[in-house]
Amino acid sequence: MPSQSSVQSMMRAIAATRQIEIGCDECFEQLDRFVDLKIAGENVEEALPLVWQHLERCNDCREEFELLLSMLEAAAP
Ligand SMILES: [Zn+2]
Repeated sequence: MPSQSSVQSMMRAIAATRQIEIGCDECFEQLDRFVDLKIAGENVEEALPLVWQHLERCNDCREEFELLLSMLEAAAP
């Protein structure tokens, strides 16, 4: 049997991964802002954690993000 404290830390880990997740539509809506912040050198993981999380697990949105990022970086002076 796991000890009481390891159960508690397991529960915390589960709670931490059970944050509200966003879908592709919401991710896409915030992607412009996400890319802007990224280019500005902001900590996007903290600024838009839900978008970040979505990009981590969704290949489609990640490709879209990388495309957008490369376009804007190419356009930047
Ligand atoms: Zn997606």
